[in-house]
Amino acid sequence: MAKYFVHLPPDGSPALFWRPAVNFAGLTFHFNLNLLARAIGDDPTATLPAWADLVPPQDYDFGEGIVKIQPFAYSPQGGNVHRPEGLPIGQNLNRFLNDPLLGDRLDLSLPFYDEEVKLGPAGGGFFRKENDATAFHGGTDFNKRPRATFDVCAAAPGRILARDSENGRHGGTLVLSHTSPSGKDYRTLYHHLDITTVPRELTIGVPVRRGQYLGQVIDVSIIHLHFGVAVQGPSTRISGVVIPALWYFIDPWGVYDYYEHDSRSHGSYLPPENLPDIYRSRIVGAVHTIHWGSQPLYETLPVVRQTESYAQIEQIQFRGWSTEVKPGIPASEQGQFFLWLKSDPDPFLVSASQTEARFSESALTSILREAFLHSKQVKLEYHYEGQVRHIRSAWVKA
Ligand SMILES: [Zn+2]
Repeated sequence: MAKYFVHLPPDGSPALFWRPAVNFAGLTFHFNLNLLARAIGDDPTATLPAWADLVPPQDYDFGEGIVKIQPFAYSPQGGNVHRPEGLPIGQNLNRFLNDPLLGDRLDLSLPFYDEEVKLGPAGGGFFRKENDATAFHGGTDFNKRPRATFDVCAAAPGRILARDSENGRHGGTLVLSHTSPSGKDYRTLYHHLDITTVPRELTIGVPVRRGQYLGQVIDVSIIHLHFGVAVQGPSTRISGVVIPALWYFIDPWGVYDYYEHDSRSHGSYLPPENLPDIYRSRIVGAVHTIHWGSQPLYETLPVVRQTESYAQIEQIQFRGWSTEVKPGIPASEQGQFFLWLKSDPDPFLVSASQTEARFSESALTSILREAFLHSKQVKLEYHYEGQVRHIRSAWVKA
């Protein structure tokens, strides 16, 4: 059963039950599920076992003041008060985390193109097996092995909400805002970007497409992308203090349990080995216990998209690059093939690596060329590499 997050601090020190709010690119984000649970009306005494005592209320700085709130945690009677247990997640929080967009799907794509990108070893899950203030990680880490930087892209269509103007010690952050079909706002956060690789035109308010290139991960320490998803909780009043509608990090993959694995020597959170892999299904906001069977992104697919409908090809272009003519293939076709669709200013490309393979070349460039010559409409399947759309397959309408 999913539980509230409880830190297990070193013996003798006061218990910590949450991570403080953190600023990213000038915006405040909260990690405190206890506060969120109170804001949406859960009662910590409702699920308290009869034989247990709630831990003492604790101060929480919500950015505009400090409020004392009751953590959803208890000390087993006669047990160690510094080893509290988290209560099961209550009805209201459960409903909220399962459906943070009030019926709309959190329709997120993976925030990168590279198939080699994997779930990070440190903080790959939403919690880490550590006792410091960062143990509630609030996001998902992605990295390459061996370590290398990689391109980051927008996980959903939206707008630039905030961006750092320069790199800090661990790079900078870009925050996007998104609106679901029913008008519920949510945010995605891309941390550890090399701000010098973020396109200049991505200024605040600028719209971005799903899959649009946002920049590269910065080449420091463990090169990784920290990807966060945040939703807004309701405003509330606690002990006479008005708490505004705050932005909380939630786990879009729906993992809210703290899993402590005795056999692990490192501090990472990793899933057990014998449960199904939720990463094979689409991402929804859902409260799951741990469901990972292996490194969840081990067989990550690149983000593949389709043009919305059939469209006329307006222009095609071959750019030859090889001086050597291979038997049976015109020199121009040994290079790159570009194609423009009507009312879309940016080209699609059959890349050099694809044109090098004879079968791909005949299957894509010649079909597309035929479609162009006979004014037939096409629909394309493609993926982004940087800002370039690479065609993977094509449909042609008779
Ligand atoms: Zn991280």
